[in-house]
Amino acid sequence: ATRSAKSVMSPLTRTSDGVRVHLLANINLLSELGIARELKAEGVGLYRTEFPFLIRSSFPSEEEQYLVYKRLFDEMAGQEVTIRTLDIGGDKMLAYSNPTAGSNPELGLRSIRFSLSHRNIFEQQLRAILRASAEAENVRILFPMISSLDEFREAKQAVLDSITSLKQEYAPHHPGPATGIMIEVPSVMGIIREFTTEADFFSIGTNDFVQYMIGVDRGNEKVADYYRPYHPSVLRGLAQIVRAVTEKDKDISICGEMAHELEYIPFLLGIGVRRISVDPQFLPVLQDRISHLNLSDAEKHAKEMLSKATLKDTREVLQRQIASN
Ligand code: PEP
Ligand code: MG
Repeated sequence: ATRSAKSVMSPLTRTSDGVRVHLLANINLLSELGIARELKAEGVGLYRTEFPFLIRSSFPSEEEQYLVYKRLFDEMAGQEVTIRTLDIGGDKMLAYSNPTAGSNPELGLRSIRFSLSHRNIFEQQLRAILRASAEAENVRILFPMISSLDEFREAKQAVLDSITSLKQEYAPHHPGPATGIMIEVPSVMGIIREFTTEADFFSIGTNDFVQYMIGVDRGNEKVADYYRPYHPSVLRGLAQIVRAVTEKDKDISICGEMAHELEYIPFLLGIGVRRISVDPQFLPVLQDRISHLNLSDAEKHAKEMLSKATLKDTREVLQRQIASN
């Protein structure tokens, strides 16, 4: 467990006025872990489990998954690891299973909806995660595309059921990882306060959050002009969520692409985000950008962004902020 402890020692990113910001890595493939450690990631903020599923010609077995996840937890020993359950459908289609076939895959049986309706596949994955993390300390299971408390409870119950069955089999397993939700579907906004009493942590997936908030397909180039993270409702939604979660002392991170777009960093810090997860290659530039940022300036900028109601006005504020750097 101490093998990598030295190489992963992080520089502890802080703003110029000393506010600590945690920078973590989004990981798609195990081969990216080396660079994440080298670039001083403070852990894995999002491990996407789809890839072992995407590269095979059928669903990987519990054992196959166990071996992949075991390497993840071993290589990140001593560090926090957030592992997301299967997020297929929409932009991540499996060649051998097409549950989201239908007129609108982004709104179909994707992600957690697929897992909850294919319980054997879900349980195999949860058992593989729990077994692989038996000796890991800071383990967090993240459910994607959650749209209601009911769904979250059902997913959490599946984790408890898997723990019970592993216990009965005397199989080594993690006794109780933290469980959290991705904030991607705007329907969680109205019940975010209740979520803060049931979920251990939150992660905002801005790629999908923007898509569903504005109703614009994230992959359709014809409507790319509509895909605007600086839409006033997106900005206000993000601020509202971060406030509700941090008020309850639960942690919240941002793991969508907005998190590595430097122009949004002052806004995100200004609304209270202190944990950012990005593809490893973006870590150095983020460490640098944040260390030159002053939190009170960021708060002022965020307040101004939140006061605007049109795309034209938020874009103007954003551009002024970019020009001032
Ligand atoms: C997101 O939606 O922002 C996210 C991080 O998940 P993915 O890109 O895998 O859908
Ligand atoms: Mg997503």
